[in-house]
Amino acid sequence: MYGSGHERLDVNALAAEGQVIRRHYPASELPRLAEAGLDGTGWVDAVLSFSAAGDGRFGCDLEITGSLTLQCQRCLRPYEQVLAGSSRLVFVEEGSEESGAEPGEAEAYPVQAGWLEVVELIEEESLLAVPLVARHEQGADGCGGGREVATDVPAEEEPRQRPFAGLKDLLKS
Ligand SMILES: [Zn+2]
Repeated sequence: MYGSGHERLDVNALAAEGQVIRRHYPASELPRLAEAGLDGTGWVDAVLSFSAAGDGRFGCDLEITGSLTLQCQRCLRPYEQVLAGSSRLVFVEEGSEESGAEPGEAEAYPVQAGWLEVVELIEEESLLAVPLVARHEQGADGCGGGREVATDVPAEEEPRQRPFAGLKDLLKS
């Protein structure tokens, strides 16, 4: 499944069977997300639960979790931003003018002849989860809201976490 940048899913078949699809993408497979980050590292896990929308159409509940390296706008150091989002989609044929208001919180999402470009969808959802202003959480070590601008503290002093230690292996496959 890796490197399949144009994977397409048959939403009608998946919804009819109530299928749940799970995908993992390194940021390198989501170019716009990689660009939004500081250094192109990061990842996203997605769970797509397909179902009938109840009106003859099909939809899916989408949940994403992930991580992206951003630069804190307060202390200018890199940090790991947790990405999380969920949405309810109802699939509509592209160009069918069906994309009006959907019941509840559902969002009309275009497909072509029932085929969902899954990477594109995950990339869009991931971008929505990126905060407009990148910042450490309030009270994070050494990020004191301007009190302590770390001009002379080398970034190396921060304990190195390696959340992506397994990424190289993933990329190999
Ligand atoms: Zn900070």
